[in-house]
Amino acid sequence: MINVKLCVLADIKMSRLSDISYIKDVMERHGTAFSKALGQNFLINPSICPKMAENSGADENTGVIEVGPGIGVLTYELSKVAKKVVSIELDKRLLSVLEETLSDCSNVKIINDDVLKADINKIIEEEFGGEKVCVCANLPYYITSPVIMHFLEGNFPLKALTVMVQKEAAERICAKPGSRESGAITISIHYYCEPELLFKVSRGSFLPAPNVDSAVIKLNIREKPPVEPKNKELFFKVIKAAFSQRRKTAVNSVASGLSLNKALVTEAFEKANLPIDIRAEKMDLKNFSNLSDVINEIIQ
Ligand code: SAM
Repeated sequence: MINVKLCVLADIKMSRLSDISYIKDVMERHGTAFSKALGQNFLINPSICPKMAENSGADENTGVIEVGPGIGVLTYELSKVAKKVVSIELDKRLLSVLEETLSDCSNVKIINDDVLKADINKIIEEEFGGEKVCVCANLPYYITSPVIMHFLEGNFPLKALTVMVQKEAAERICAKPGSRESGAITISIHYYCEPELLFKVSRGSFLPAPNVDSAVIKLNIREKPPVEPKNKELFFKVIKAAFSQRRKTAVNSVASGLSLNKALVTEAFEKANLPIDIRAEKMDLKNFSNLSDVINEIIQ
């Protein structure tokens, strides 16, 4: 009976946090307003956050880092499934709002910081005892790729990232490397993890509604990358350069992107057993790894 009561109360709370009049009221009472510059489109579709939390990989033994809690609608759901939630919010004006909306969530800690500047290793060490954590967020569109790459490149102890991003970005990230839909982000992300597109979310699920639809993706961190380029920094530079001018052949894009002689780059493609007229989107991780190894040798 008590459990049923608690569930009903939790459901009421959840639906309140996604209720338009409540969101407007709580923001007004705390003297804050939606910031377009900070990508503040808050979720008002109550079915999304429980699904994100369920899929996040967080549980009673695993903590979660959230980026940008807003008024706390996803934070609230995460707090129900995770051992602990640490949410990093840049907008100082939302801190008192969160104090009110998450007052009954004892396992939530809010950190006022820019996620790209926050010391994630320190947070994992101090808040989660250095244990592997999950990341779950409805990401602000203006920094989607930088935030994802920040977590992936940081070599932090992570299990998975479950994030809401623009639908087109989700499709690009989850495309098969070597397919027409792939881009530099596809190859870079597949190096670190196995991505999956979980579900699409319409623009009407947010307040204010953005001009684009969204999707939730899950990036399952690999134990070990599928390729081992000799020079990791060069490997990523080659990927970026190859995709920088999609209409050109990869030889031309790599030569101009890395400021290398075209004859030298052509020789590298031949040595890596790649056709000299290949385009970047036809290349997979192994192709890029082989190519960057050859370029690495040539430019030594
Ligand atoms: N999680 C809430 C939701 O789903 O309704 C809000 C998501 S909203 C798309 C993005 C949130 O990220 C906002 O609360 C915004 O203030 C915050 N934010 C923007 N830039 C940030 C940054 N660099 N570091 C941390 N939080 C940021």
